[in-house]
This record gives sequence, C-alpha cells and structure tokens, in this order.
Amino acid sequence: MMCRMKKISTKTLIIGAGPAGLAAAMELSKAGKDFMVIERQSRVGGLAKTYEFKEGDLIFRTDTGPHRFFSKNQYLYEFIEDILHEQWIQVKRQTRQFIGGKFYDYPVNAVQALRNIGPVRAIRILFDYGVAKIRYSVFKKPIRNFADYVYSRFGKSLGDFNMINYTEKIWGISSEEIHEDWASQRIKGLSITSLAKDMAMKVFGRANKNKPKSLVDTFYYPELGTGLIYESIKDRLESEGYIIMLNTEPRKVLHRNNRIRSVICTSPDGEIEIECEQVIESVPVKEFINLLEPKPPARIVELQKKLRYRSQAYLFITLNQESVTPDQWIYFPEKENPIGRLSEMRNFSHAMSPVGKTSLFLEFFCTEGDATWNMTADELFEEAITHLEACGFTDRSKVRTYYHIREKNVYPIYDLEYKDYLGTIKTYLDKFENLYYIGRPGRFRYNNQDHSLEMGMLAAKGIIDGVKYDIESVGSEKEYYESGNLKTKQTQS
Ligand SMILES: Cc1cc2nc3c(=O)[nH]c(=O)nc-3n(C[C@H](O)[C@H](O)[C@H](O)COP(=O)(O)OP(=O)(O)OC[C@H]3O[C@@H](n4cnc5c(N)ncnc54)[C@H](O)[C@@H]3O)c2cc1C
Repeated sequence: MMCRMKKISTKTLIIGAGPAGLAAAMELSKAGKDFMVIERQSRVGGLAKTYEFKEGDLIFRTDTGPHRFFSKNQYLYEFIEDILHEQWIQVKRQTRQFIGGKFYDYPVNAVQALRNIGPVRAIRILFDYGVAKIRYSVFKKPIRNFADYVYSRFGKSLGDFNMINYTEKIWGISSEEIHEDWASQRIKGLSITSLAKDMAMKVFGRANKNKPKSLVDTFYYPELGTGLIYESIKDRLESEGYIIMLNTEPRKVLHRNNRIRSVICTSPDGEIEIECEQVIESVPVKEFINLLEPKPPARIVELQKKLRYRSQAYLFITLNQESVTPDQWIYFPEKENPIGRLSEMRNFSHAMSPVGKTSLFLEFFCTEGDATWNMTADELFEEAITHLEACGFTDRSKVRTYYHIREKNVYPIYDLEYKDYLGTIKTYLDKFENLYYIGRPGRFRYNNQDHSLEMGMLAAKGIIDGVKYDIESVGSEKEYYESGNLKTKQTQS
C-alpha cells in the first residue's frame, strides 16, 4: 500500500531558525500573522547559539566563539530588550593579539607596540607607510584586492604584521585573491590616522564618537550567552502557539510561474509537504539553488558551484583554573600556530563558567574535508594544548575535559570574482515573487547578528506591508558605528 505524504499549510514558511529567521518570526508574530519555522538542527540560534555543557553539578557555557552585540540601529536594542528584559550586561572590551610570544593590545597601543617591536622595526614600518602613501596616493595605484586596501592604509610591514596573516589564515587563500569588500566589512574606517586619533582622544580623556566599529571599547552581552536571545524568542513564539519544527529540513522546494508553491521536508515524523504563500529562508545560497524543483537553468547551477565557504572546527576546553587571561578574545595571526582565535567565556559574563573555573573556546579555520576538519577531538586537543602550553596560557594538568564542535559554511569566501557569480544568482532568485532569501548564509554575506536581524525584520515588514523591500540594502549604509543604549542590570569589567 502506498503511504501518503502528510500535507500541511501555512501562510509564511520560515526556513532556518538563526537570528535572521527568528527576527522575521518575531515581527510576523507581533503583527498577528500566520507562519511556521523549520530548522534542521536540534537547537535554534544558528551560528549565534550558546552551548551548555554539564559536568556533574557544574555548568559551562559557550557561544560559537566571541559574540559581542553591536549595532547603530536603536530599534534592535529595543527589540532585544523586549525579549531579554535586562538580562544583559555591558562589558568593557579587552582584545589582544599574540605575535612572536608577545601581546599587542587591540586597538593598537603605540607605546606598547613600539616597546615590543623595537626601534629598527618601527622605522621600517614608518618607511613602508611613506612608500605606500607615495604608491597609492601620489601614483594612484588602484585598490584591486584586500592586500591593496591594507597596504594603502598601513604600509606593507604593519599590514603584514597584524592584518594580512590573520586574514589569510581565515580564508586559506592569498590576500591578493581576496576581494576588497572583506576589508570594507571588517576594517572599514580603520587606518594609521584613525588609530592615532583614537589614541590621542584617549590620552586627553575625550570620547571619540565617530570611531570605526573595530575600535569601540564596550559592548552588550546577554548574561547567559548570545544564544539566550534566540532561545527566548523560541520560548515566546511557542507560548503564543507558533510551531518551530527542529531537526527538519527541506528536500525539495517546488515552484511554478515564479512562485514557490510548497516545500517537501524531512522531519522526525517522516516526510511532510508544507504549502505556503510566502517563503523566508536563510539556507546557504548554493544549497538552496539545488533544492529548487524544477531545477534552475544549467548556467545558475554551474555558477553556484563557484561560491565557496570556509568552515570552522572548534575545541571548547573546560579548566580547573579561575582565569587564564583578562581578555574576551585573543587573535593568533601567525600561521605556524594552528589556533586562529581564543575566547575566554567568563570574561564576557561570569555566568558562563562555574565559580573558580574557566574555559577556553578555540577556533580553527578550515575547509570542509581538509586535514583540520577531519581531525578527531583527541588530535585537535593534542595540537591545541601543545601550543597553549608553549605560549604559556595553561597546561594539561588543569584541563577538566574538552568538546569538539564543527560548523560548515561559516565564512562566505569573498574571492575576486564572487560578486559576478553572486549577482547573476541573485538576479535569478529575485524572480520568485514570494521568496525572501536572507541572513548570512542566504545572501552569502559576512553579516554580524545586527544585519541578519535587520534582514529578517525587513522580510517580515515586506510581508506585512505587501511590498517587497530591498534586502540587499541592509548594512550597505555608509555610516557603520556601534552605538545604542540599553537598560542593563550590571556592568562586568
Ligand atoms: C566565530 C564567530 C564569531 C562571531 N562573532 C560575532 C560577534 O561578535 N557579533 C555578532 O554580532 N556576530 C558574530 N558572528 C556572526 C553571527 O553568528 C551571525 O551573524 C549570525 O548567526 C547570522 O545569522 P543568520 O540567521 O543570518 O545565519 P545563521 O546563524 O547561519 O543561521 C541560519 C540557520 O538556518 C539553518 N539552516 C540552514 N540551512 C537549512 C536548511 N536547509 N534547512 C533548515 N534549516 C537550515 C541553520 O541550521 C541555522 O540555524 C560570529 C560568527 C562566528 C562563526
């Protein structure tokens, strides 16, 4: 006997319960609209989820790496305040780089940097900066890639020292193959001049309101980790009767006449067909293309193969040690050190670790299927602890245990041609009248939480107003600073 597939229907189907999808859900719920959410993982929050590990009576928590919240949009602060009700703290940012066995403050502290690098290297940096000014300002050398962007603002020696190496570690390709868009999103507004101005303002005790986003020195953080925002949204929506189906993912997205008609999903209850009038999705764009039925034109299927993502392997180490560093996170730009970045979660919020204990979250940049990606937990731990011991951070006698996590599709790779491929793919997707593709994976965009939240909100607003707003416009504004005010219960220094 043939088994009939279960069919259900909803007005708006949201695929993906990360910040973007859940922001859309919240806004639709506030307007009393009908929708349901499907999420392939067993937890909500996407890359901004918080893990909880129980060791006997002790609870250790960690985000997927450091997640400070920042935005220039006051509405986002109010949106989150409405969900968290003052379960935020304001944290004084401390970040450093560890290079050649020495710490360097970030943003750069010139006196400390000079002491660490010595006069010969300092002269070399100044000389190279002068050369860069002549090359890029006088002879107008064009900015063709990330390397050009950095060298034109910092000169070669300083650029290589603290930006080029780390960037190449993230992407696994040369900085000459990286699009300058990455610099605009990562270090926009930053230059030797802006660093000097910020330092001068500090010396004279004045606040630099227009400092670039990379220089802002306090941020907000939910007491129990960034995932608290998204778990709280899930609880709120479920209490209002909305359905969030976990462990559920689309197998086929059926369309006709430029409209998505239904989505066939695999779920813990078997296959379901969900009929819908609108779709909001944050599925990695190349994956979404392959779900469409009928298939997109061959040219689009071929182009999506050229979009590449970088993945990450993580190691979360719990320690019988009260504290390792005063920093929230430390960068390791040197390629000889396999660790990309280390975060000490208790320095975001003391509630992330039990009293008298701490933890380290280590990030390793990799490509799905490469040697680092394939390492077992034990192999990764051996590699990590060897370097942590050599750098003097901790030693294996203090380690309680460790947890191995991997995430695919973490960083969209902005190579030199990505914009052309992506533009053609987006033009194709834009033909679907009832499709909103949003978020970091959906738009192949290096979003932080703020821009993913805004994309979700704009998609929901489009559905509420019956107007298709331009999702691409989110985050493209010239002004790009961290700001906003929140009621916080306490401040953690
Ligand atoms: C190490 C690290 C550090 C970061 N630091 C910060 C920071 O300091 N501040 C900050 O604001 N942001 C930070 N971010 C970025 C932040 O995590 C992202 O901006 C945010 O999570 C993006 O939200 P999103 O909803 O767009 O995408 P995602 O978080 O990727 O969520 C997408 C969701 O869709 C689901 N999904 C995908 N495909 C399917 C499918 N086929 N079917 C069903 N579900 C699917 C996924 O499982 C996921 O839950 C950091 C990210 C990383 C990795």
